[in-house]
Amino acid sequence: MKKQKLITNLKDLEKQAPIEIYCKSALGLELPEVTGLAAKMPCPLPHAHDENAQLVVFKNGRVKCTSYDQPLSVWDLAMEAEGLTFREAVEAVCEFFGIKDQIQYNG
Ligand SMILES: [Zn+2]
Repeated sequence: MKKQKLITNLKDLEKQAPIEIYCKSALGLELPEVTGLAAKMPCPLPHAHDENAQLVVFKNGRVKCTSYDQPLSVWDLAMEAEGLTFREAVEAVCEFFGIKDQIQYNG
């Protein structure tokens, strides 16, 4: 089996890939504007969630579906919205932001 390469500088890449810009420009998903601590909208993501699920956007830019405990990263959103693997999602997002050449692989 081919050895899986890991991407080692995700945090650096994440800083250059603002989630709200990716949602709006790449996914056509306009996130609600955060005026207080958080804003929410019915979750539009094509993943399994209950019908009352809300997509919550926090002041710090974190995004979360109320059906899940963990916040969604820009990579999670790309995976879920476009049906990609994690690595494909990182590459697609970085390609969108023109930083694909900055991805550092381990192995
Ligand atoms: Zn959801």
